[in-house]
Amino acid sequence: MHGIIRNMKPALVSGIQPTGRLHIGNYLGALKNFVDLQNSGDYQCYFIVVDLHSITENFDPKEKNAQILETAAEYLAGGIDPKKSVLFLQSQIPAHSELSWILSSITPIGELERMTQYKDKAGRQNANINVGLFTYPVLMAADILLYSPRVVPVGDDQLQHLELTRTLARKFNKKFGETFIEPKDLLTKTSRVMSLKDPSRKMSKSQPEGCLFLDDSPEQIKSKIARAVTDSGSEIEYHPEKKAGLANLLEIYGALTHIEPHLVAKEFSGQQYSALKKQLAEVVTDYFAQFRTDKKALLAKPAGLIKILNAGSEQAAKVAEKKMEEVKEKIGLAL
Ligand code: ADP
Repeated sequence: MHGIIRNMKPALVSGIQPTGRLHIGNYLGALKNFVDLQNSGDYQCYFIVVDLHSITENFDPKEKNAQILETAAEYLAGGIDPKKSVLFLQSQIPAHSELSWILSSITPIGELERMTQYKDKAGRQNANINVGLFTYPVLMAADILLYSPRVVPVGDDQLQHLELTRTLARKFNKKFGETFIEPKDLLTKTSRVMSLKDPSRKMSKSQPEGCLFLDDSPEQIKSKIARAVTDSGSEIEYHPEKKAGLANLLEIYGALTHIEPHLVAKEFSGQQYSALKKQLAEVVTDYFAQFRTDKKALLAKPAGLIKILNAGSEQAAKVAEKKMEEVKEKIGLAL
């Protein structure tokens, strides 16, 4: 029972990069689930603004601070409650970088070379294929393993990274003695929301043209959904392979209204795509009305956001530092 204090709830960890506004993929694949899990009361939750990860992609240092606060505001507006969960900033806790280095010494290069997200990102930023982009999954393993979580709720794009996290935990334990728990992934039904512009690609903050952002205005929501790429057919049916764009819209609709996508399709059968799109725009607009208001109010008081992050980091640091002591002892670095 390493890393778990008796009578304490099992831990849960996840993170979001401060790289821009959250989109509906981040919400349906991750944030909505975070909030449900937090509110279940079954877990001690740690939610991280993973700023060290975000600097592996091209960025403007003048914008980073605002992006960090924006991501914190979005966590909170989406329903993360600092009284129930620990919300903190990765770079405020040196143990993340420290453990990442130690884990890198047991990570085979070949494992990292297989990572599809690395290959994808490297392909997109050809002039900036940095070592951080390559070792990103090792830092992610450190983010997770420091808090001994049982589960890690993520979108489907993170499964390969999580598998590596388990591999590293196992390898470390075998080599140096039981230290880390191998965490399980926790996926939602909508663990892969696709781009509105290209239904063959996942919606991603790094490709904002295909994103439906959580604080888009009602007009933007209407126009983005109206222009969402669908096939040229006219019959509304749920068929992810044959009609990927339409299926994506039906899945978003279903997730926000708690109706199975094929039943949503049934509701609209005989109607045109435009009828579904119009109704979906209304559903999205209503669903995120409170989010839009709350995010604005939170961002208007940056000092409040900083206070929450500082308090969260202080709490998380205690857990992380304790784990680091154990790690150093195990590998013979503690004097
Ligand atoms: P992005 O890929 O948009 O930059 P992050 O890397 O910050 O987002 O991911 C934050 C969380 O959102 C992760 O758990 C990730 O798996 C999830 N996520 C990202 N994109 C999607 C998507 N299109 N569908 C479902 N979940 C997603």
